[in-house]
Amino acid sequence: MKDTFDIAVFHGDGIGPEITRPTVELLRRLSQQSGYHLTFRDCAAGASHYAETGQSLPEASMQAARAADAILLSAMGLPSVRYPDGTEISPQIDLRKVLHLFAGVRPVRIFPGQKTPLKLPPETSVDFVLIRESTEGLFHTQGCGEVTRNEARETLLITRKTSELLFDFAFDLARERKASGQGRGHVTCVDKANVFRAFAFFRELFDAEAAKHPDLTSDHAYVDATALWFVQKPWDFDVLVTENMFGDILSDLGAGLMGGLGVAPSADIGLDHAVFQPCHGSAPDIAGQGIANPFAMILSGAMMLEWLGRRHSNAALKSDGVLLRQATEAVIAEGSVLTGDLGGTATTEQAARAVSAAIAAI
Ligand code: ATP
Repeated sequence: MKDTFDIAVFHGDGIGPEITRPTVELLRRLSQQSGYHLTFRDCAAGASHYAETGQSLPEASMQAARAADAILLSAMGLPSVRYPDGTEISPQIDLRKVLHLFAGVRPVRIFPGQKTPLKLPPETSVDFVLIRESTEGLFHTQGCGEVTRNEARETLLITRKTSELLFDFAFDLARERKASGQGRGHVTCVDKANVFRAFAFFRELFDAEAAKHPDLTSDHAYVDATALWFVQKPWDFDVLVTENMFGDILSDLGAGLMGGLGVAPSADIGLDHAVFQPCHGSAPDIAGQGIANPFAMILSGAMMLEWLGRRHSNAALKSDGVLLRQATEAVIAEGSVLTGDLGGTATTEQAARAVSAAIAAI
């Protein structure tokens, strides 16, 4: 059985390196106590690298990412560094396209004790996963939309091939969650099929996939109603699947429900590769002060371990992923060692050390 895994690490910009360092340290320590080995390969990319060299994603880094078993990517981009056309440096979007990482996985989990703007009924938890298609949709013409003096156009693209892969992924995830007692085996297609033909097509492909999974249940919801229900009854959802731009917006709403971007992890998964990255940006306003929240990055690392474990049928990796997630969630729910964005005064290092202590206590 494969027991050594090569991880390509992109340290990113702004707070990126500050939250990557303790995350890699936690992953290294977990692997030393378990029956697998992680090797970390540092890869250059991002806005600072572009400012220095004129390259945002060098070929050597691209090759290392392709060759790696998984890619751990920190926050990237800086508002002050842009391409000549004015757009920001975003190698993470390039990686999604080049490696065809069609499934953007955004878990939303809220537990008793956790700070949330919601008023949840007593002892109610929220645990759902939003899957955002990440290679097409309204991002299809990104960077090459048509703009004239009086008009601007961007084109939304939904393809049969990517949608079928996406829906297959969504139903598989619902089945896995049901098997592990995390969900009820239900998938919701989020669209705007009442207005746009492209979304009626998206829904038709979803229904065809749903028919192949009689052991699971499914339904549809319009994106506007979904935004309302995220706030009114988020505990009702299990797995949701949607187009790129709808997913982009709903995933930030989900992060807000969890208490902020600092606790929102993500994964972008394809058939052969996967990138694990916090949902937030490089937070240049607090970079260099050692006060960034590392939890979203650590939770992304936990998702990476779980994904590698499932992919390679390695129980130690899978259980370390669950352990790292549970330890981080325990620190968030306990609430005494939190960074400023969550209302606390802890430094990045103190927050990461609290996770390490929570691992030892579980
Ligand atoms: P992008 O467009 O690259 O996603 P953004 O414009 O959404 O970036 P962020 O960089 O995510 O912006 O920052 C938004 C706000 O959230 C900033 O005030 C920032 O300081 C704060 N923030 C983001 N991530 C963290 C974190 N890990 N810890 C503490 N604060 C954070």
